[in-house]
Amino acid sequence: MTAPTAPTAPSTPSLRPLDSPLTAHLNYENGTWGGITPDAAWASEIRRLKELRRAVILAHNYQIPEIQDIADYTGDSLALSRIAARTDAEVIVFCGVHFMAESAKILSPDKTVLIPDRAAGCSLADSITADQLRAWRAEHPGAVVVSYVNTTAEVKALTDICCTSSNAVDVVASIDPEREILFCPDQFLGAHVKRETGRDNIHIWAGECHVHAGINGAKLAEQAASQPEADLYIHPECGCANSAIYLAGEGVIAPERVHMLSTGGMLDLASAGPSTRRVLVATEVGMLHQLRKAAPNVDFQPVNERASCTYMKMITPAALLRCLATGADEVDVAPGVATAARASLEAMIAIGQPGGGE
Ligand code: SF4
Repeated sequence: MTAPTAPTAPSTPSLRPLDSPLTAHLNYENGTWGGITPDAAWASEIRRLKELRRAVILAHNYQIPEIQDIADYTGDSLALSRIAARTDAEVIVFCGVHFMAESAKILSPDKTVLIPDRAAGCSLADSITADQLRAWRAEHPGAVVVSYVNTTAEVKALTDICCTSSNAVDVVASIDPEREILFCPDQFLGAHVKRETGRDNIHIWAGECHVHAGINGAKLAEQAASQPEADLYIHPECGCANSAIYLAGEGVIAPERVHMLSTGGMLDLASAGPSTRRVLVATEVGMLHQLRKAAPNVDFQPVNERASCTYMKMITPAALLRCLATGADEVDVAPGVATAARASLEAMIAIGQPGGGE
């Protein structure tokens, strides 16, 4: 796995540093901020600094439990960006990966957006660069570019319409059937969309997330067979998504046990009260924390307990403290790129069902 490239910081930081007694304990080792225990003193200091900054803390569903619990809001990437756009807070602290903080900045250009560690990238977003997308478009003049929201701002700026895993099928179905579609960057979500829409004029970029690709069909089949009473919640980015459909079609897994859901969709279903006492979850393991809080009587188990995103876990308690105290790392998007990227997000929102995604 290649580590994503850390984007450069704005040359002129917007925020002045604040004093905090805990910053004396910070250390940076092996590419991660540490030296802080997430205890009551840490939580109290995070709240104090947050008030001084007039900040709101947003945490993605894949963050570690301590970060999810200190956040003002948790959710999927797009839902958090839309909360960021509505908030009165002057500073948005986005505990997630870099493209998510960029999306918040695109939708809230007048606010200061911080990410606790700007090296927190995403292998899926890095699957396609702006230059690669430019070259692909040149090979297919007239095609409509549909990009999953896990993309950089520059790729969004070259995109006609974004999509999430909740609305990808609706977005593609809304496009003139005669026009070619370039779908990027996730091959598993692309295969899901192609199957659901039945279109054969859709070209799919061969990108993937290393975490979701590791949740494969073999693991799913083994677990589903050994736990026949359990339902399955599967994120369509997973390598096992196609296998689940196949196994359901073959009668190996009862189709009613298989729920293909965005992370937001998983939480909605858990909150409504699942009909089974056990659910196997095929996505990043951080999702289990919110699911278990939403339905404490249900036994949620990961399909692959090692499906943990290294980049998400770079947002440590120490990184969050450093971020609030020092005002780093600030996320910026060039105005021209932001305007074009916003148009592709707004084109998606106009179609409806914009919630979801990772
Ligand atoms: S789990 Fe995969 S898609 Fe999600 S942030 Fe990590 S690398 Fe990116």
